[in-house]
Amino acid sequence: MSDLQISCPQCDYVWAVPKNKKGGQVNCPACGVLTEIKGASDTKLFYSLVLGLFAFLGLPFGVMAVIGLINANMEMAVCSGSIFIVACLVFVFSILGS
Ligand SMILES: [Zn+2]
Repeated sequence: MSDLQISCPQCDYVWAVPKNKKGGQVNCPACGVLTEIKGASDTKLFYSLVLGLFAFLGLPFGVMAVIGLINANMEMAVCSGSIFIVACLVFVFSILGS
């Protein structure tokens, strides 16, 4: 396991911390200021992006499909429904594939 390079925002001192400290906080060995170890939020950011995209793109089509079904508008229901299913599949695969 390789180390992460951290640079202090206070004094620009650069040092290495183990990768498993990702997302935590360490004190700068030079000036003692508490420094956040960046990098841990990558996965969280990815999931929130996927969830956000899913909510913004997928759900309205799901709602439209239901509206289409209620109004017996099959064209609208099938069209929106298939987009919704694709959005669901993309969502599931991006969760499973990461
Ligand atoms: Zn420092």
